[in-house]
Amino acid sequence: VTSGARVLVVEDEPQMLRSLRLILTGHGYDVVAAPTGEAAIEEVARRLPDVILLDLMLPGIDGLEVCRSVRERSSVPIIVLSARGEERAKVEARDLGADDYQTKPFGAGGLRAPLRVAHRHPAGGRSAPVFDAGPLHIDFERRLVTLAGRRVVPTPKEYDVLKYLVTHADRALTHALILRAVWGPEYAAETQYLRNVVLSLRRKLETDPAQPHFILTEPGVGYRFISTADG
Ligand code: CA
Repeated sequence: VTSGARVLVVEDEPQMLRSLRLILTGHGYDVVAAPTGEAAIEEVARRLPDVILLDLMLPGIDGLEVCRSVRERSSVPIIVLSARGEERAKVEARDLGADDYQTKPFGAGGLRAPLRVAHRHPAGGRSAPVFDAGPLHIDFERRLVTLAGRRVVPTPKEYDVLKYLVTHADRALTHALILRAVWGPEYAAETQYLRNVVLSLRRKLETDPAQPHFILTEPGVGYRFISTADG
């Protein structure tokens, strides 16, 4: 288990916060707590955590608003902590870029799966700091994508998919593999989510989106990013 990773816990209930802190420190995480949405946004601006555990029902700015605000500047993994009956908010949170969710209450083991997702793509990243393929340049540290020197602005999901594709360049990647890595294990069958993101990525990256050079379709399989593409 990665130790020392910073988890920002956004939770207003002291008892829930206490038990989360216990579980997380037990797993070797550093815990930073924010009792309100405002405090959470401030904390993220000050220092980006490696993962965020986000309660939806908060006094003042709610969890959805926090999610939206964080996603404007970062693809840090966000795990939503939801109570039963908050199905609608959970779906909304996912649409706003949340990576996974955990239904409350949960035992010590309940957090393990979502935290594994967070480990798979830590905010710091283990990949090379930059990637180049012909005119395409990606600066992972600054989350900057340029094409022939011009800035391309991907959405958070587009960026995450692109990052996954280029860090596994020149390999045929199945839909399920990409969906699991970027959206989380329970989205492995949501092929349409991935299709939509690839479509919009092609519109931003390819000279002719109908004749892609970077992101090729592997019929019946998934996609392959071509690192030797020249645009
Ligand atoms: Ca709450």
